[in-house]
Amino acid sequence: LSLPGMSGSRADLEALWMPFTANRQFKSDPRMLVSAEGMYYTSDDGRQVLDSCAGLWCVNAGHGRRQITEAVSQQIVELDYAPPFQMGHPKAFEFANRLIKHTPGDLNHVFFTNSGSESAETALKIALAYHRLRGDSGRQKMIGRERGYHGVNFGGISVGGIANNRKSFGSLVSGVDHLPHTLNINLNAFTKGLPEHGVELADALESIITLHDASNIAAVIVEPMAGSGGVIMPPQGYLKRLREITEKHGILLIFDEVITGFGRIGEAFASTHWGVTPDMITAAKGLTNGAVPMGAVFISEKIHQTFMQGPENAIELFHGYTYSGHPVAAAAGLATLDIYEQENLFQKAIQMEDLFAEALHTLKDLPGVIDIRNSGLVAAIEFAPDDNAPGARGYRIFREAYDKGVLVRGTGDILAMSPPLIIEPKHVDQLVSTLEHAIKTKS
Ligand code: PMP
Repeated sequence: LSLPGMSGSRADLEALWMPFTANRQFKSDPRMLVSAEGMYYTSDDGRQVLDSCAGLWCVNAGHGRRQITEAVSQQIVELDYAPPFQMGHPKAFEFANRLIKHTPGDLNHVFFTNSGSESAETALKIALAYHRLRGDSGRQKMIGRERGYHGVNFGGISVGGIANNRKSFGSLVSGVDHLPHTLNINLNAFTKGLPEHGVELADALESIITLHDASNIAAVIVEPMAGSGGVIMPPQGYLKRLREITEKHGILLIFDEVITGFGRIGEAFASTHWGVTPDMITAAKGLTNGAVPMGAVFISEKIHQTFMQGPENAIELFHGYTYSGHPVAAAAGLATLDIYEQENLFQKAIQMEDLFAEALHTLKDLPGVIDIRNSGLVAAIEFAPDDNAPGARGYRIFREAYDKGVLVRGTGDILAMSPPLIIEPKHVDQLVSTLEHAIKTKS
């Protein structure tokens, strides 16, 4: 490892503490990315690496977009910061107005945050405050879904459904329940489209409601497609049935679109693509193409009206961040949205879906592959775990692909792909032929 200002010794890797860089695998074999352009990173050893993950599901318009970097640098010079309380600046308002042209239904109001985790906290707090303002203060309970991911903060990790993520923290927020991920039906094996039995699966919500009574339940939060939990597609009818049940019982429905937002599945939001409008949508990542941290919560008219009915200066929701609607982030977001609109990138996932799916499915008979699933421009290949070391096979294949110039996202024995929406057929070829080699040699 040789980077400017680093001696290349192990000691250089000790100062920055992040669980993933702290682990022994990374320390013994560090990998660094030093620059990027379009579909490619350059690694510290000077290699071109195809980014088949859009960074971490965020660089949807591809790397190094000059429109964004120029907007950011101009904004820093013009107005580096403005406080979000009692004050405003035009870019945040302009960005909010531009964004709501892309949201489904009447989700016409935007609360800016700085990350996906903060967006989840914001939506959960809004749900509690909304019910209280309506005199329904018993509604405190939250319902998530197994394998759902809503960031790392207290509320988000509590409603998140990846049990392993919660194991270090004890009880967290109480009163949370999780919808099942399957009903012992194999939901995904080699499906190019959406698996079946969504209505039956969503009906599990009725059982939870019967057990706890709707008058105690504030909100249901799910990802339309669970990303970090393994790229789990919503079975047919699942989201629509959740909408019907929540509506019937006065429970708010929150879709976490931090991954699916901004064109990943086609359309700006998966909610629109799958024809279901929730009460709130949380977003981040692709909002600013990964260039500057920013998140958002999109809120329905009904919720917004509830908060606006009180006395003129009442603060009905104690919430907001120092950097909510930051001018530099808003400038980055506006430039990002310009690119999405000018290049029609939200349609790219639909245009490329068949080619991407066909190419990936050629890998299905390779050793160890037990599932391939995709929708739009997101996909996963799942491997049978090695007998005594779950995750080891996935890591070997991830590592071989990286050494051969393709970065995928490896979580255990699942490899995920979510390429920038500017992907072309030649990149799909490179991705699939590299994966074929990696699986054949390392599975
Ligand atoms: N929700 C979902 C669906 C996510 O995928 C993520 C991040 N992977 C988050 C929330 C948290 O976002 P952040 O890391 O920006 O806090």
